[in-house]
Amino acid sequence: MPATPVIVVSAHKYSLRVAIRNRLYPDAEQGELLAVHCGHARFVWNLAVEQQAWRRPGRGNPPASAARQRQLAEARQAEPWLAAGSSSVQQQALRDFDRAMAAFFDKGNPAGQPEFRSKRGRQGFVVRDAKARRLSRHWGEVQVPKCGWVRFRWTKPLPASPGMARITLDRAGKWHVSFPAPQPAVSREPAGKAIGVDLGVRTALVTSDGQHYRAPRISGRQAARYLAAQQRMARQHKKSRQRERTRRAMAGIAAGVTRRRQDWAEKISTRLVAANDVIVLEKLNTKGMVRKPAPKPDPGQPGAFLPNRARAKAGLSRGILASCWGALSTRLEQKSSASGTTALFVDPRFTSQQCRACGHTARENRESQAVFACVACGHSDHADANAARNVLARGLLAANGEVVPAHAPGHGAYACVSPRQAAAGTTRSAA
Ligand SMILES: [Zn+2]
Repeated sequence: MPATPVIVVSAHKYSLRVAIRNRLYPDAEQGELLAVHCGHARFVWNLAVEQQAWRRPGRGNPPASAARQRQLAEARQAEPWLAAGSSSVQQQALRDFDRAMAAFFDKGNPAGQPEFRSKRGRQGFVVRDAKARRLSRHWGEVQVPKCGWVRFRWTKPLPASPGMARITLDRAGKWHVSFPAPQPAVSREPAGKAIGVDLGVRTALVTSDGQHYRAPRISGRQAARYLAAQQRMARQHKKSRQRERTRRAMAGIAAGVTRRRQDWAEKISTRLVAANDVIVLEKLNTKGMVRKPAPKPDPGQPGAFLPNRARAKAGLSRGILASCWGALSTRLEQKSSASGTTALFVDPRFTSQQCRACGHTARENRESQAVFACVACGHSDHADANAARNVLARGLLAANGEVVPAHAPGHGAYACVSPRQAAAGTTRSAA
């Protein structure tokens, strides 16, 4: 018997500040200095992680923030290579760690425990009280300790005093600088409109008023190149130069897909927030969406497996789609809270099997991937639009603080929303 759908409502809380990220163009000498800063920040961060990991009952507490800073000062006196670096970059890495720990201990925050940073992962460090100035229409520069002014591409208006700048090196070898900024409000007029959104695993995003949006995909050629590189890398010597080149090529393809995905999420979220007062989405289970492709056993050879390229590519596409939904949810939340729109998240279970007209819930209602036809009342609709309308109805009930009947087969169960959560939503009748 399937479990009972429970309404989940989340109020936006953790994503009010966004980052304005621009491509950074250090010259060769500056690039080397930036890499040294990255190394030092990583070293200091990892020491803090280690101190934290050492903690056990009976061993006492790991050093507090001020004690850690003192230890860093001592370490700089003892280690000339550390002292040669920027003390402000190293201190900032510890403050970064403090913030990550605070987020970890905050119950409502999904942030996990701060982890070791690998030399192979994304690198970066933070500049405190960063100064940035504009050079021309498309160029600006940011002051980095010991590097002087480093040029970056100026794409969006920056806050007058950005406070800090985060400088990163991605796995494809490109530098970026991010400045924190409040999310600007999307210009909109309250229209008295509420919308539900269905996130399909196959094709697109479908809204309760029947709009379809297609998410970016990895092209066949890109997927083939990526998978070929992946196989090549498995055969290459660890730490070899060829392997590093393959890794960069893969990271480059992934970065291109990420860019397109972010661009898509920006456009769709702005459009939805501009046109609606309430947006209801499904609470995501992105982990369930990205399963590894199942291995295909070789019939001629028990225990052996056949190559599974098609499944590997499908897995790649699904992963991208899942990350699209993640990016879209985040941006919708950020823009909604800055613009007076309410974003709600509801339990997605049975939204695709439930009839919007009579509430009958059965797998047989799904005539095909695209068509919904209720076996009880005969109501028929586009399958994803029907699901989106269910999402909307659940969200509106939750926003009104009403008891939500869950149309699960055999269950007449209910879920309540606390008055505080209900107050976060505006009360409107279903569209
Ligand atoms: Zn029906």
